Amino acid sequence: MVRLLNKLLSKAFFPISLKYISLIVYILLIIIGFWADSSDSKFLNQLRNTNLGNLIIWSYWWPLIVVVAIFFGRFWCMVCPVEIITTLFSKIGLRRKRPGWLKSGWAITIFYVLILFVGIHGVAIHRNPTFMSAYLLAIVGVSIIVGGIYEKNTFCQYVCPVGYLLGIYSKLSFFGWRVADKLVCETCKDKSCIHNKYLYNLNNKSCGVDLYPANIESNSDCILCAGCMKTCDKYQSEENVRRPNPQITKIGFANDLFRLQTLKTAEFVFVLIVSGFVIYEIWAEWSTSKGILLFVPKSIIEYFSISNSILAGLIKSSIIFIILPLIIWLIPFLISNLIGSTIKLKEYFLAYGISFIPIMAAAHISKAILKTTSRIPYFEHVFDDVSGISTAQKIIDKEIILSPNPIILNIIVSILITITIMIGIVISAKVVKKLNEKYNYGKQSFSYYLIPIIYGSIFLIMVLIWRWTP
Ligand code: SF4
Ligand code: SF4
Repeated sequence: MVRLLNKLLSKAFFPISLKYISLIVYILLIIIGFWADSSDSKFLNQLRNTNLGNLIIWSYWWPLIVVVAIFFGRFWCMVCPVEIITTLFSKIGLRRKRPGWLKSGWAITIFYVLILFVGIHGVAIHRNPTFMSAYLLAIVGVSIIVGGIYEKNTFCQYVCPVGYLLGIYSKLSFFGWRVADKLVCETCKDKSCIHNKYLYNLNNKSCGVDLYPANIESNSDCILCAGCMKTCDKYQSEENVRRPNPQITKIGFANDLFRLQTLKTAEFVFVLIVSGFVIYEIWAEWSTSKGILLFVPKSIIEYFSISNSILAGLIKSSIIFIILPLIIWLIPFLISNLIGSTIKLKEYFLAYGISFIPIMAAAHISKAILKTTSRIPYFEHVFDDVSGISTAQKIIDKEIILSPNPIILNIIVSILITITIMIGIVISAKVVKKLNEKYNYGKQSFSYYLIPIIYGSIFLIMVLIWRWTP
């Protein structure tokens, strides 16, 4: 399978042809999204699932690319239409050097905060198909501006929060982009994979995200464009049968994570916010847990009579995506310090922060399972009315009664999400064990097992009560 994929990647038409296809699909989904608009929240509650664009983007595309990244790596980036747009604009643009603030990683974290706090929880871009389309267009707009100003593939490397999240999850992936033989690179004279001459080719291009294939040890940054594989093959100064050298390589599940690379500060903030985001994603699935989670933000919003949805979204997001995870992250640190550990707070966040990733990934997989299966009943109607306007109205008027999923499917879903979260907890504990061995903080290091215990329990206990009690 891997060999076949590598063979395919060495062909000129692959994956670029997929990018063009996904660009057409992307444009169609934007058009379908703009087709359906409403300000009625009851109507939007149905329209979000009956509009083909909104249904595909939020209930299938987004969950699936995350799951694929967890198991296989950043495969979405391989076919992403925005990559080709930004590459085109960097080819004809100003090609300015990237400033330090952009390279620090904060731009991505801030962009993500804007999307999550204002876009999703302020104006509900995931509920209104028109807003969803405007969001997709905004992403393209930003990619054009960034591509037009800065050199190389700056958007994918330093701005796109989707790729960044996939990069974090791809630390768990079974596969990675590596060279088959480092010796071949050591003796290579042309270094086509990083040669400036090919930087702005659309297909046979050298690496636009500053990677030297022979030095790749992490899955996070490579966008799997296969450009280096093509240049390595096409522009050889001396024929070598062992080229192309870069390729998809089997590295083993979570091996990248077990290398225990510490997070950068901006990356830690990003991971912290996502660790809160996935709590919301899972707890919001059940009205009881959703009520508990939203109790504090709702009480504050009601107490101050806040009617502005953006302000309310900011308050809700700050509590759920910053304060709540911060408390969870801090408990193991405070306990370890109470019993004599000397680890500094920043050191703890950056080193032990990676042990949250397996549980976050498990929660994201669980959400994907819940979302994709719960939307199956809409498929019967969605292709007859792609805008979803008439279907949404008929559902509200009870002219259409959605058929529920079979009970057996619900049981399978319960089993899958329970097992997934348990596996996430076990991998997280394994990461903590390896971190403890690496840093050797003595007996106090046992308190770091509170990370999988506390963070994992937040999901496991909720799922056990919700899915397994009558
Ligand atoms: S990846 Fe290919 S082009 Fe790059 S250094 Fe290695 S052999 Fe040379
Ligand atoms: S290392 Fe190769 S596949 Fe990865 S982003 Fe760079 S050129 Fe593309």
